[in-house]
Amino acid sequence: MKPEEARVRAGELRRQIEYHDYCYYVLDDPVIEDAEYDQLYRSLVELESAFPELVTPDSPTQRVGGRPREGLPTVNHRSPMLSLANAFEESDLRDFDRRVRAALPGETVEYVVELKFDGVAVSLTYENGRFIRGATRGDGETGEDITPKLRTLRSVPLRLRRPAPGTLEVRGEVYMPKQDFARLNERREEAGQALFANPRNAAAGSLRQLDPAVTAARRLNLWIYSVGFTDEPAFSRHSEALAWLREAGFRVNPHIRVFSELHETLDYVNDWREPRFSLPYVIDGMVLKVDRLDQQERLGATLKSPRWAVAFKFPAEQAETAVEDIIIRVGRTGVLTPTAVFNPVRLAGTTVSRAALHNEDLIREKDIRIGDRVIIHKAGDIIPEVIRSLPEKRSGREKAFEMPGDCPDCGTRVLRPDGEVGVYCPNLACPARLRESLLHFVSRGAMDINGLGPAVIQQLLDRRLVADPADLYVLTPADLIGLERVGPKSAENLLSAIEKSKGNSLARLIVALGIRHVGERAAQLLAERFGSLDGIMAAGREELEAVPDIGPKIAESVVAFFARKQNHCVVDKLATAGVNTLEEKRTAPKTGPFTGKSFVLTGTLERFTRQEAGELIENLGGRVVSNVSRQTDYVVVGRNPGGKYEKAAKLGITILSEPEFTELLEGSKL
Ligand code: NAD
Repeated sequence: MKPEEARVRAGELRRQIEYHDYCYYVLDDPVIEDAEYDQLYRSLVELESAFPELVTPDSPTQRVGGRPREGLPTVNHRSPMLSLANAFEESDLRDFDRRVRAALPGETVEYVVELKFDGVAVSLTYENGRFIRGATRGDGETGEDITPKLRTLRSVPLRLRRPAPGTLEVRGEVYMPKQDFARLNERREEAGQALFANPRNAAAGSLRQLDPAVTAARRLNLWIYSVGFTDEPAFSRHSEALAWLREAGFRVNPHIRVFSELHETLDYVNDWREPRFSLPYVIDGMVLKVDRLDQQERLGATLKSPRWAVAFKFPAEQAETAVEDIIIRVGRTGVLTPTAVFNPVRLAGTTVSRAALHNEDLIREKDIRIGDRVIIHKAGDIIPEVIRSLPEKRSGREKAFEMPGDCPDCGTRVLRPDGEVGVYCPNLACPARLRESLLHFVSRGAMDINGLGPAVIQQLLDRRLVADPADLYVLTPADLIGLERVGPKSAENLLSAIEKSKGNSLARLIVALGIRHVGERAAQLLAERFGSLDGIMAAGREELEAVPDIGPKIAESVVAFFARKQNHCVVDKLATAGVNTLEEKRTAPKTGPFTGKSFVLTGTLERFTRQEAGELIENLGGRVVSNVSRQTDYVVVGRNPGGKYEKAAKLGITILSEPEFTELLEGSKL
């Protein structure tokens, strides 16, 4: 290639990579597969090494890919959060080893080998053993402050179990387990919301949106894999730091190993190629790190990645198969989902024989026909998806797919609302809809009734013991004991799970009702704004739309849902059965160490918004009131407090600074 051609090509590649970085890191919504991205990136690296004069400081090869999202508060990292150099072949790992040994002549080198978690890099800062701040990697220098969201993760210790340096910053990866990702996408599809491409994007989206309550509902988890900064360096090896982190209460992955021989290191990396698919979380490779910290320091880093570590990426798993048929599944909202039935094929650890094709437009866009050969993969190593068809392999006997005009389960004429891609069965009594809506009602993100699986639900329907979700609440032991594989003990467990679900929050109940376009967040907003199911039912379109973040589509869907007599009837039956239809906070104050105590908040708090502080107080049984009086127990004072502070001082009420308040909170939780 001539230098001029190379310059033009490098410019093109940079533009493409920058665009994909933006979609991936800022929007959490990539448009190409990681393997395709890696290919573009490698082409740029190769070009820049052949023509070093083309390397510019702003090239994607010279800096960490992310950027903090606008509108979120930022944090400057004490030491940069870098990326990792990638290796795709065993020979790349051998080259890495050679470079390391050449830079450390005559020294012995041990490698720590870790799984490479495919999630979101985070930094957690502790002061005197207490969690004070959490941030994303951002551009490596500046990340987004996500402290309140990280506080909702149970695996983030708020207080360490071992004496810790005054300031300690640890780093790790937040991830969404595969099963939770699959369930979340299922619910989003049913609610007509956009799907997440993979668990990484789902985790990033969950951490970076504004409401910590949504983060809490998403079941994220965390692996900690390094110390980023300490003001009292106390370790000489990375493996030693990891052992200490585990003792201090951090979640450190059990599959970490230390090797002194390269061949053992390579064997261990290769050993994970297949078993990785049975892990409950996604890993996209393995990381090798030089163990001794003094050696790490001497090896140093480039602007983008340390020279003492390398990430070996496993190849993306794909398979070729034939589409034998395209069948229709009717979901709980009546949406007809075309599903491809394959000639069974091994893929990422299981045999795959089906994949949802989502809607007719997508089938047309990807030009998938019955009889086609196709390339498939698993999104997040769990959800089978067709990537593309192979028209070059057609015999001419393939058939184009057509969406049926009638529901395949009940024969009702289907509808396609204007501007929507989905087609749906409007018959509320459609048996398929009923089965799916019951399964949704009892699912984990909704009423969470343990033990009511598809087999039991089908039997309840077949025996006409339930005709809508409210009927679950009048089931008797005799109804259940007669079912296949349900004995007296499991009947009792089922009934107590059903009984327990009556106390669920209003938001969960709204999710469970399965109103189109209403997911977790909308349900939470509606519950908070209207306080009761009656309040939501009475609200008109305009009132609903006046709730921030509730758009016309959701408002219309809520109004349409409650306009149906049948739905009204179910709601009445639920309320009569004793299912909670009121917003928790207004009706049932929690009890806890703050029960009977009232708090006034004044001034700006550093670590929480007023709402977050209020929720924490209420969760421990306390009340937040707006005015200071002799009855007030505590006044929490932030920066620039108002007259409430003076009044509290005059009345002799206990005044808490923010650190004292945090201490009181944490002391009460432990
Ligand atoms: P990376 O994901 O390849 O590696 C660095 C990251 O690995 C670290 O920041 C950390 O978060 C993570 N990590 C996981 N386990 C770790 C462990 N045990 N120890 C240390 N770190 C660990 O690099 P990157 O810069 O975050 O992202 C680049 C990659 O992202 C690309 O290779 C590509 O696969 C993907 N990407 C895809 C697109 C797309 O459009 N599909 C766009 C941009 C980036």
